[in-house]
Amino acid sequence: MKEVKLTFHNNGLRSYIDMDLCSQCPRQDDKGCCGYYSPVFYPSDFAYLTQYQPELLEEILSLSQITVLDASVTVNHTVEAPGYHCHFHNTEGGCRLPQLMRESVCRHFVCPGITWEQDEKFKHWQYFFSRLSDYEIELNNKISEQLKSEGLSLRNLENRSFFFKRVLEIFNKETAVMPEFINKLNKEESLTLACEIKYGEDWTL
Ligand code: SF4
Ligand code: SF4
Repeated sequence: MKEVKLTFHNNGLRSYIDMDLCSQCPRQDDKGCCGYYSPVFYPSDFAYLTQYQPELLEEILSLSQITVLDASVTVNHTVEAPGYHCHFHNTEGGCRLPQLMRESVCRHFVCPGITWEQDEKFKHWQYFFSRLSDYEIELNNKISEQLKSEGLSLRNLENRSFFFKRVLEIFNKETAVMPEFINKLNKEESLTLACEIKYGEDWTL
């Protein structure tokens, strides 16, 4: 058994949960859960990266293993010994992206090996992330529809800078008033949970 600390960070659309177990991941394979996922960046991520880390957006779009759709880009995992590998994963420090720069699945993710969902004390976090996911999907759909109605697509290499300019403008307009549930939780809260740790492939992913 091990006492695991989970910390909830309320940053509106960039909210996340982190925990102190990842640095000693029980999978002991240098990549934990990250090899199994291909991060997908949507308009709300583009809006954030355009403002705070445009060079990361450029890096993503310059990669060879991406799938570009009209309003999203997937960074496909690659197959390298001993298995799948996320482009952003570093065998020494885990994800090299700061939490705020990650897309929403990576930010909201809580290790499947942690049985937090059955515990009443985390219910307010779960409610928050469920509402936030719905809000973010709706927001991304609205931005995508508006871009489409203006004939803008991420697939069009020539007008990408205008595409991102419009993403940010539409994002700012749509998020001028944020939903009330966001302000109901504290900026930060830490809770602990006693977990049975299993190692290697016995640790659930
Ligand atoms: S498997 Fe769990 S402990 Fe390991 S890196 Fe992923 S979230 Fe962290
Ligand atoms: S972006 Fe980071 S958190 Fe997400 S799958 Fe890749 S390494 Fe893991």
